[in-house]
Amino acid sequence: MSSKVKFQDAWLQKPEFQPWLAREEGNPKRAYCKICKAGIGAEISTIRRHKKAKMHVANEGKANEHETDESGPSTSRPNNSPSGVGFATVLLCCFIAEYNLPFTIAEPLVTLHKRMYPDSAIAQEL
Ligand SMILES: [Zn+2]
Repeated sequence: MSSKVKFQDAWLQKPEFQPWLAREEGNPKRAYCKICKAGIGAEISTIRRHKKAKMHVANEGKANEHETDESGPSTSRPNNSPSGVGFATVLLCCFIAEYNLPFTIAEPLVTLHKRMYPDSAIAQEL
């Protein structure tokens, strides 16, 4: 790697690198990705490559999904979020598959859930 490699503050202004690019503290030869919490070589080509990396794209998606900081493996879901409904649907399908139940049971099961949990937004939207 060339010794001329150095982080340039101008990169921070580039829309393509916002809002995740930062400089690594105390190391001008390194950039830092706030989304992946990982260091990147301070070369514009390396940073561009990082932006397209699978890990970064996935992390970026996650970051957009949960506005708040990550709090452990996605266990805390708000009750009325659309992802909660999707998650419940997946759970239901897994349950049916796991016990070799006929899929025709899904509809009466959903109806049952709606009656059992009338105050649950997720159950009502299933
Ligand atoms: Zn990243």
